[in-house]
Amino acid sequence: MALDIVMLGPPGGGKGTQAGRLARHYGIPAISTGDMLREAVQAGTDLGRQVKVVMDRGDLVGDDLMIATVRERLNRGDTANGFVLDGFPRTLRQAEALDRMVNERGLVVIEIAVPADELVRRLSSRRICRGCGTIAEPAARAGDAAACARCGGTLVQRSDDREEVVRERLNVYETNARPLLDHYRSRPSFRTIDGLQSPDRVFEAIAGAVGEMATAGQKR
Ligand code: AMP
Repeated sequence: MALDIVMLGPPGGGKGTQAGRLARHYGIPAISTGDMLREAVQAGTDLGRQVKVVMDRGDLVGDDLMIATVRERLNRGDTANGFVLDGFPRTLRQAEALDRMVNERGLVVIEIAVPADELVRRLSSRRICRGCGTIAEPAARAGDAAACARCGGTLVQRSDDREEVVRERLNVYETNARPLLDHYRSRPSFRTIDGLQSPDRVFEAIAGAVGEMATAGQKR
């Protein structure tokens, strides 16, 4: 049975890091809509040109465009055994569209909760690899030799991780989070994880919850 996982939570909450770990653990693709959009901007495609200004402001790209982009991505063969979605859905409309794309009862939904002050601190000091987009661990960022642990690429700040944009992104998240969480909260396959723990502890908590919910889902 396919394992379809949705990661919810604020920017800087650790969704990207944990989505990558889960994907490697379960052998399914991590699908980050933020990464897809950033790749499109870098490649200068039509999609990239449409979304660049919106992303640089910290606003959300329109629902129709995002829904079409994710629908196409989920139709690729590598999702046959499941996927980890990171950054989608971000609005109630996107969540309803996702329910129609997949078997909604099979969705495992994980919210990583982190208080706002901690998010501003994390995001404004975050560095990612210019080459492969991997988020650098704090230790790798220190010193002049800072380089991506995965590919050796240069570490840079994301243009929307500047403090003024971070605050706007957090506002946008706050506005949309409540209806989104209300949409999922009553489902048996929804869990909130404390994102203030170390990344290893967060991963253990998520993997434990996913294992439990996936087994329960198979029994339904
Ligand atoms: P992220 O890397 O997930 O923080 O996304 C970076 C930016 O991409 C966001 O601030 C939005 O501008 C845009 N974006 C990513 N995913 C979505 C989505 N599901 N809906 C709307 N905009 C999105």
